Amino acid sequence: MYVVSGLGVTCGAHRLWTHRSYKATLPLQVLLLFMFSCASQTSVRLWARNHRLHHKHSDTHADPHNVGRGLFYAHIGWLMMKKHPEALAKGKTIDISDIENDPLLRFHERNILWINGLCCFILPTLAGVWLWNERWCTAVAWQCFIRYASAFHCEFTVNSFAHAYGYRPYNSTIPPAESWYVSLTTLGEGYHNYHHSFPFDYKAAETWDLLNLSTAFIRVFRSIGWAYDLKEASEESVKGLMERLGKSAAT
Ligand SMILES: [Zn+2]
Ligand SMILES: [Zn+2]
Repeated sequence: MYVVSGLGVTCGAHRLWTHRSYKATLPLQVLLLFMFSCASQTSVRLWARNHRLHHKHSDTHADPHNVGRGLFYAHIGWLMMKKHPEALAKGKTIDISDIENDPLLRFHERNILWINGLCCFILPTLAGVWLWNERWCTAVAWQCFIRYASAFHCEFTVNSFAHAYGYRPYNSTIPPAESWYVSLTTLGEGYHNYHHSFPFDYKAAETWDLLNLSTAFIRVFRSIGWAYDLKEASEESVKGLMERLGKSAAT
């Protein structure tokens, strides 16, 4: 369930709906929406608005999880406080009409309580009890607390650790950095210096490696025609940026 819900966030909410880095057929959209619901991370509309705002005003007061306000704030503190006035004001200027006009995503948001409750907590708990003979308290502890909270925190390391520690070979002027351990916990989202430089690239990394399970998932569905129009940065544009702004020194 950690991997299922994680891929729902990375391949669905992030790479498909927020960045439109590839296109998906309706069956793949439904599958990704189910997987995203298993993570219970609000609606796609709210997720995408926050993330588009994050990319547009990265590491400023308008960034909803501005790392300039500290590691804890960037990780989870931002969810415990009122939004900064600049984030509120700039958030209203973010265009999410593509998501608001998507009937599937509208249906999901209208029914979010029971869909997320069922996919994230009830069905995974019942599966443990019915299919693996787990005791109720074990199944509830694992699915509703340990798996849910660990997936949640691991995803959030992208906003905290990957904006603070690592290499900046593509653009050394921005905080987002390349972090293998964030990629390990987020199924491939830790190549963050590259991702902020080329957010439209479906790989969210320059090259593929074993930690980037999300890219492998998209490629599997490309092979059966469910994922198509995959966008990538050209070799020249990557090299050009590295020559202008890149630096291989760790911080
Ligand atoms: Zn970021
Ligand atoms: Zn992104």
